[in-house]
Amino acid sequence: MRKPLIAGNWKMHKTLVEARELVGGIVEGVGKLDARGGVEVLICTPYTLLFPIAKAVAKTPVMFGAQNVHEESQGAFTGEVSVAMLKDTGCTHVIVGHSERRHVFGEKNDRLAKKVRAVVEAGLTAIYCVGETLDEREAGRTREVIESQMGEVIGPDVPADRLVVAYEPVWAIGTGKTASPEQAQEVHEWIRASLAGTYDRATADRVRILYGGSVKPGNAADLLSLPDVDGALVGGACLVASDFIAIISAAVATVPA
Ligand code: PEP
Repeated sequence: MRKPLIAGNWKMHKTLVEARELVGGIVEGVGKLDARGGVEVLICTPYTLLFPIAKAVAKTPVMFGAQNVHEESQGAFTGEVSVAMLKDTGCTHVIVGHSERRHVFGEKNDRLAKKVRAVVEAGLTAIYCVGETLDEREAGRTREVIESQMGEVIGPDVPADRLVVAYEPVWAIGTGKTASPEQAQEVHEWIRASLAGTYDRATADRVRILYGGSVKPGNAADLLSLPDVDGALVGGACLVASDFIAIISAAVATVPA
């Protein structure tokens, strides 16, 4: 049984004052949910907020993480942040290979492979994102793209218990378009098959695969009830505490009593 994970990606949003208000609403909302310990909640904030967020979520079930990391441990990399620096904040998770990192900042699989290893070797959990563009989907290349994003980055040396995969079709991120439940389930099955090839079936069955791409309170229940969807990576809707809590509630409803 995989425990659902609902992760919020704050992207480049929220000043300190705004962040305190949002995290306060999330902590309060999570506290009121009958989560039965069955759902994990994570917020991935800008670097500047990691230390204050650490304080705000201390002694609550809400976990926090970063949205990116540099692959080297230190050096002349102006503007970058190392995994040891992230560890200093007490964060537990790092998003790697978000579509904005791939498509706006030009990060390729070979670099992402190094980033995933930097994260897991430091004992943190990598949330590794994969997903096809609209052109790739329309050209019938979705499976090939997903398999290369998986195969070129995830190897048996990556401990499966420190890995979460997020399927985020690029055409669904921030667009209001969502993959249909059939499209999401199909790609999640391909990802799990890829994991089974890398590890083995039992290990692949333990790795959580999140769906991301315009997840909202109104569509969360349908997506989260799919057999291979183990949670969500949420962008826009995680910036409004009540929407994020509604998505977490939808995940709680999938957990057997
Ligand atoms: C994301 O940023 O990972 C994301 C899925 O964004 P949105 O939910 O806004 O589509």
